[in-house]
Amino acid sequence: MSNRRDFIKKAALGAAAVTSVVGLSGFAEKEDVKEDLLEFPSKKVKKPVIISTWNHGLPANQETWKELKAGKPALDAIEAGMKIPEADPNVRSVGYGGYPDREGKVTLDACIMDHNSNCGSVSFLQGIMHPISVAKKVLQNTPHVMLSGQGALQFALSEGFKEENLLTPESEKDWKKWLEESKYKPVINIENHDTISMLMLDQDGNLAGGCTTSGAAWKMHGRVGDSPIIGAGLFLDNEVGAAAATGLGEAVIRTAGSAMVVELMRQGKSPFEACKEITERIYNKHKNHKDMEYLQVGFIALNKNGEHAGYSLRSGFNYAVSDDEKGHRMEDAKFKMSWDK
Ligand code: ASP
Repeated sequence: MSNRRDFIKKAALGAAAVTSVVGLSGFAEKEDVKEDLLEFPSKKVKKPVIISTWNHGLPANQETWKELKAGKPALDAIEAGMKIPEADPNVRSVGYGGYPDREGKVTLDACIMDHNSNCGSVSFLQGIMHPISVAKKVLQNTPHVMLSGQGALQFALSEGFKEENLLTPESEKDWKKWLEESKYKPVINIENHDTISMLMLDQDGNLAGGCTTSGAAWKMHGRVGDSPIIGAGLFLDNEVGAAAATGLGEAVIRTAGSAMVVELMRQGKSPFEACKEITERIYNKHKNHKDMEYLQVGFIALNKNGEHAGYSLRSGFNYAVSDDEKGHRMEDAKFKMSWDK
């Protein structure tokens, strides 16, 4: 026996058939009925909702929330929130104070994307405190999606950004200590991730997102991670949902991580199911890989109903959530395997 939803779908298809006939006689407005019926039973959409990776997501969310509620456009609100960890020297994985590469250079990756699939991105950018703002300018003021290295810096300077030293004495000290052994083996949950990735469903039901990071600590000079790559570190489709990643960027790039999470949601998976399936895919593809020893990846996802989830390969990943119902808080992500520091 068909359930009510099947019945409604069939009824909708019937209505569509009738509409196309009747439509020829000038009653095209009946098309709207079809849309409504296909959505039945409609879930209550919760909005706005903002989610961000890690503890530093909380102050970022609070700022973004404030700006959004003050009527700022989604991208401006995202930028405002992400500038908080970028400027905080105590956040050692984003912007100012971020761990440098093995040559002692702080190199930054960031991207931003709106509900119309407009994207802006910068990679391997040095000397600019707020790469998320430069990424937004790439989106707004250039015909391109991504600018890199010296070209990204030149563009930032032409847009009025100021060049400054981002290597704090604390990060320099840690780098010099690392040089004593010079072994690239990022410490899980400390050195190989802490990107801030933020996803938003705004009051109008539109999605947007951003990522900003100094990338993996002690990386090779010139290395670019997943975070500025649309489809890897961040992806959204305004018809479906949004996803973002943190963790070992190489693994996320190899699997087109965030794009795949969104595609699974398109196929009907919940944000949790989608994050879990892609994390497990990454595990399966890496279990015999040299990177497995220090592999951690985590995803967050948000769908058009405002449902969200986080999931990681190893324990220790959390994300910030903001909504009207419960305010701002941290949620622990579920994970595949536990990990003791
Ligand atoms: N995904 C980032 C990268 O690989 C690292 C992070 O999440 O902090 O560059």
